Amino acid sequence: MNFIFPPQNQTILPIRGREEVFPVNRVYCVGRNYAAHAIEMGHDPDKEPPFFFQKNPDNILLEGNDFPYPPMTKDVHHEIEMVVALKSGGDNISADKAMDCVYGYGVSLDMTRRDLQGVMKKLGRPWEIGKAFEHSAPCSELVAAADIGHPGEGAVWLKINGETRQEGDLNQLIWKIPEMISYLSDHFTLHSGDIILTGTPSGVGPVVKGDKMHGHVAGVGDIHVNVS
Ligand code: MN
Repeated sequence: MNFIFPPQNQTILPIRGREEVFPVNRVYCVGRNYAAHAIEMGHDPDKEPPFFFQKNPDNILLEGNDFPYPPMTKDVHHEIEMVVALKSGGDNISADKAMDCVYGYGVSLDMTRRDLQGVMKKLGRPWEIGKAFEHSAPCSELVAAADIGHPGEGAVWLKINGETRQEGDLNQLIWKIPEMISYLSDHFTLHSGDIILTGTPSGVGPVVKGDKMHGHVAGVGDIHVNVS
């Protein structure tokens, strides 16, 4: 088979302590999966359950690279999130089978052009220009569940220039990991290589050029990304 032009590169994530790498398929993101964040965004978590949107695999920014302040915005926000990485998928996966699909975990930043997202929300339009832009998903290396187990609780925080901005705990997730996988698999066919950004705790806010972001998920790892 001859391509009329070379296909785009496969996005890959490194894995801590292993030579193998993780090829990324789809990138699912959970919206409003921590009650305190739903409330800070002006929503009632009791009336509006979490939901999903997607980013593109090639929006992933590998750690070690700067996050370039994106165009067309004056209000880019940080959202620290744990990543769940799948080694298998399927349709209609029950919650009690869902954890069999999990390869491991990572730490990511769901960078958001909040001003553009706000305009789209008001108009009832899709969120892509607010969420799925270039380099909008900085990701750490993954860690295998075989090495660390399945974290169900532990601190999730983000510091900017050493100052804490976001703080939460994995035990505050509204949709737990098995529920996320099960729900997603009812609506889409999940595949090995899919990753899920599991939602952000409260304290989201803007970044500016020169900021040093340091995110942490207890038991999983850290991410360090500078805004340039
Ligand atoms: Mn998010």
